[in-house]
Amino acid sequence: MKEKSLYLTKIKLKAELDRCLNCRTQPCMNACPVNCNPHEFIQFAQMQQWPEAVRTIMRTNPMGQTCGLICPDKFCMKSCTRSQIDFPINIPRVQATILENYRNREVIQPEAIESNGKRIAIIGAGPAGLAASSRLAQNGYLVEIFEASDRIGGALNMIPAERLPHEVIEKDWSFIHDTEKVSLHLNHRITDPLSLLTDFDCVIIATGEPNCVSLRIPGEEYSVSYMDYLTNREKYRTSGAVAVIGGGNVATDCALTALHLGASSVEMFIRRRIADMRISRPEFLELLDHGVNLSGMTSPEKIERNENSLSLFIHRNVFDGQKWQPLPDSTIELPYFSLVIRAIGSRADEKLPDNPRIIYAGDCKTGGSTIVEAIASGRAAADLVLEHDA
Ligand SMILES: Cc1cc2nc3c(=O)[nH]c(=O)nc-3n(C[C@H](O)[C@H](O)[C@H](O)COP(=O)(O)OP(=O)(O)OC[C@H]3O[C@@H](n4cnc5c(N)ncnc54)[C@H](O)[C@@H]3O)c2cc1C
Ligand code: SF4
Repeated sequence: MKEKSLYLTKIKLKAELDRCLNCRTQPCMNACPVNCNPHEFIQFAQMQQWPEAVRTIMRTNPMGQTCGLICPDKFCMKSCTRSQIDFPINIPRVQATILENYRNREVIQPEAIESNGKRIAIIGAGPAGLAASSRLAQNGYLVEIFEASDRIGGALNMIPAERLPHEVIEKDWSFIHDTEKVSLHLNHRITDPLSLLTDFDCVIIATGEPNCVSLRIPGEEYSVSYMDYLTNREKYRTSGAVAVIGGGNVATDCALTALHLGASSVEMFIRRRIADMRISRPEFLELLDHGVNLSGMTSPEKIERNENSLSLFIHRNVFDGQKWQPLPDSTIELPYFSLVIRAIGSRADEKLPDNPRIIYAGDCKTGGSTIVEAIASGRAAADLVLEHDA
């Protein structure tokens, strides 16, 4: 697969900046879940006032470079007025490029903020937990983050490195991590969040959706979950045909990763129409560009293990006006797969009964979302703590 550059060249950055119409109504800012202000940082960048541009981005977005690489085009870009003339400004990529090229320790200096003595526990070091920690530290709270895995970033770590290198998550973190106020405990799973209330004033639960939805079909055990696949990808290196069940952006990452790891072909099985796939236009074009087969209106029925391959039995679906139903007698056997990956969604752990000292944030609160929505949710959780103490 051909590698794409993650950042804009200086010439492309200038060309994008010059296209901004400086709209007074700032639709791009209003469309951003964290209210980042592209209008403002683009203006600073046009005048080559890079430190101001960097600070504008970081004022509302603690993970601006990561967001710049993976934010979908449904927020700022969708609202960009420029699309009424030709096509929207690639705001996320402009943001990522400014932070990559112009953010350094001289531009962003840690502020010395006095501690207020209050202690907050955060469970989960994904974008929601990290965003909550930085907002609380900026307001004088002492924060401890408990993370089950051995690294920060949560579900972001499943995104292929060609799209999001892990170093970028670490780089964002290095600029917001107030080491005096925030302690990070990796490899530390919390099994009883209520027990933390003995030592902490409040607990923010930001544990994402760690449970994969299962297919509930015979032979499911011959398939692999997207979490296992994307976390241990080298284990599943294959040269044969790969099936991906699902049609969202996680399934898309699985399909492209399989090709990257040597699959001879990849076919995605999507329950609804191809037109209903919840992916961005660039993601869709990437699938087509790489020759991924898209089988719309199909569902898996059974998986069987053969001597040298897996058989996937699928049926066709029809829409009966209310929901998708299997079309009778439409089952066919596809006997040639070396790997079947299931990527049809995930679920949060069960919520605890209401407690004013327990606050949920991110995907575990809202259901599967996007990085920038998880960050907005983490900041909102921190704001609840501030309001409570005001
Ligand atoms: C393959 C894939 C591709 C994606 N692509 C995009 C994209 O292109 N653009 C985009 O905007 N979004 C994308 N997303 C979605 C995005 O990653 C999530 O919306 C976001 O990470 C949610 O953040 P969160 O902090 O709520 O939860 P998470 O990121 O899931 O973080 C939760 C953290 O909590 C930890 N945890 C769980 N239980 C415990 C416990 N009991 N004790 C301690 N720690 C615990 C987990 O280990 C994890 O680190 C993608 C997701 C996946 C899986
Ligand atoms: S909407 Fe687009 S053109 Fe208008 S200010 Fe924002 S980035 Fe510039």
